[in-house]
Amino acid sequence: MNFSNEVDSVKKTLIENAHLMRTFENSSKEEFRDIMKKFNDEIEKERLEMGEALIGLKTRQKRLDTALRKINNESHSLEEFEAKYKEFQKTEDEKSMTVKLLSEFADFKQEMLNCSSTSNADDDTEIVEDDTNVCSMYDPWTKGLMLNPVRNTKCGHHYDRDSVMAAIKDNLSVKCPIVGCVSKIFVQPNHLVSNEALKKRIHTYKAQQGDEVTNDDN
Ligand SMILES: [Zn+2]
Repeated sequence: MNFSNEVDSVKKTLIENAHLMRTFENSSKEEFRDIMKKFNDEIEKERLEMGEALIGLKTRQKRLDTALRKINNESHSLEEFEAKYKEFQKTEDEKSMTVKLLSEFADFKQEMLNCSSTSNADDDTEIVEDDTNVCSMYDPWTKGLMLNPVRNTKCGHHYDRDSVMAAIKDNLSVKCPIVGCVSKIFVQPNHLVSNEALKKRIHTYKAQQGDEVTNDDN
């Protein structure tokens, strides 16, 4: 198993573990529920930080691999190799990396917060609070329920397709409107992917609220 796969495996374990721990919040004992919720909220931060560190390591490792191969190909002697490697290391040490802006981290965070397409379809998570730690079912522009949620792959936030498209149609300098979003990248149509799992969840939620879901998607 190479390093990259190992990191992926640890990431997966972190996510699965987080999801498992969250299921204890469905306990019928109220005080136990509260304790679990508090515990999970606290540990979630640490899990995300761990994921951030791992993704950073993996990215660096990949860069090192590529660089070593390149240096090896370009070097005709061991001395040359050493000199080139030293030079690479120097620039590498000066490089700073914002892991939080990598799409891999956005994906990790999204899965951790239970919004991924791999999340349990039958889990009971209709209570989705509108805060940045929990995947919101509401569109940041209209504040209404999203009927066609799309995920911004640059930061992991969701918007209703119609409202984000309307917002960026005539304005190419729209940033993610979610409060606290770290992404400084302007929203572009090719950054948006639909989230079928979240869509399903919202539609189920709407149906449970007694509303008829008007699906003008097809
Ligand atoms: Zn965002």
